[in-house]
Amino acid sequence: MARAAHVIVGAGMAGAKTAEALRTEGFEGPIVLIGDEPEAPYERPPLSKGFLRGELPRDGTLVHPRGWYGDHAVELREGLAVDVDTAARTVELDDGAFVRYDRLLLAPGAEPRPLPIAGSELDGVHYLRTLADSEALARRLDAGGHVAVIGAGWIGAEVAASARQRGLDVSLIERERMPLERVLGSELGCFFAELHRDRGVALHTGQTVERLEGEGAIEAVVLGDGRRIECDFAVVGIGVRPRTALGERAGLTVEDGICVDDRLETSVPGVFAAGDVASVLHPFYGHRVRVEHWANALHQPEVAARGMLGKPARWDRLPYFFSDQYEVGMEYTGLADGAARVVLRGDRPGREFIAFWLDPENRVLAGMNVNVWDVIDPIAELIRSRAAVDPERLADADIPLEALGASPVR
Ligand code: NAP
Repeated sequence: MARAAHVIVGAGMAGAKTAEALRTEGFEGPIVLIGDEPEAPYERPPLSKGFLRGELPRDGTLVHPRGWYGDHAVELREGLAVDVDTAARTVELDDGAFVRYDRLLLAPGAEPRPLPIAGSELDGVHYLRTLADSEALARRLDAGGHVAVIGAGWIGAEVAASARQRGLDVSLIERERMPLERVLGSELGCFFAELHRDRGVALHTGQTVERLEGEGAIEAVVLGDGRRIECDFAVVGIGVRPRTALGERAGLTVEDGICVDDRLETSVPGVFAAGDVASVLHPFYGHRVRVEHWANALHQPEVAARGMLGKPARWDRLPYFFSDQYEVGMEYTGLADGAARVVLRGDRPGREFIAFWLDPENRVLAGMNVNVWDVIDPIAELIRSRAAVDPERLADADIPLEALGASPVR
């Protein structure tokens, strides 16, 4: 076995960025980046947007140019990690090889939840997680026709928008009353429902999917109320589950994800976790937070790499994500229950506004700017201040966000 390296399991955004951060932080020893796909690390946001619509070339999705890994002495190794022995400090791969580590980062990401109903094994039923998934779906979009999108979360909403933009007929099916309702609540869910309806999507909300029908390939989705939606293919986006199996086998503490402290270190010293899989004891919130979004995988590596190198490190960024659907771009900062009180500021009918979620004491929990830009910093400051705000002033777009803070409530 070769000499011990800093080993990263998972060659997605979090893994590739940790390799980069280790080098930026001055680490000169060996780095091995293990991935289970035959691809250089790539970014996922374009897979449901620009790349899916054919507007971005394949290499436009890469985290680093292909030559970067060789240039920075990062060994990209294709393989599936099947076990971790934290006493021997080894990672076992599915081909029987063992990789010795000095420090280990687990960034295996998450995998789509399968649709547990009859017919889900039919041809033409797509999931969207990998570059290969997006390429396969893009070929279906090229052929046109009618797509049934099951689940109106982020995948469902963005794929529905991309498919409409490519001129397909789209039926979007969601069991909640509104798209994106669990995260955004009913009022903002309604905003996205209107957006999709205006763009010609047939929206079926409050609907379970009973079964998928077809002879070999999908021909129709049968809803809980008996309606039958004929389609040429389907896309399932009903959430993901974090890939925690390796952490469990390694004996790490796993709850909803691999539990890490604010240095992103797991319950076993020397083993770290980042990205979709990491359930972080967040210093600002005082409880565990696991975020399944790109920005998390982009920024956590700086902290993970510093932790792996024994330098001071602390993850305390607020959750952040963005989405683009048709002409609507949005960013969301913070963490709120969709049921929290919402205050709107700006032009909702014109689709240029900021939504704020408030707690019962009128403290801002989260903000979502829609087609309004360069407001992330003041929104984050309002959240971090924990200051009670006057909802009427918050709603008044003539009052600068910076002028809204009041005395902090602790
Ligand atoms: P998601 O955002 O968690 O949404 C899944 C949606 O499917 C939820 O609305 C869920 O409703 C619904 N659902 C669950 N079971 C269903 C069923 N049997 N029939 C119909 N609807 C059902 O997950 P996703 O859209 O699959 O996305 C996968 C991951 O990629 C997520 O981690 C997401 O954050 C990430 N992603 C992020 C972005 C972005 O940041 N812009 C874009 C794409 C993907 P309930 O709430 O009732 O469970």
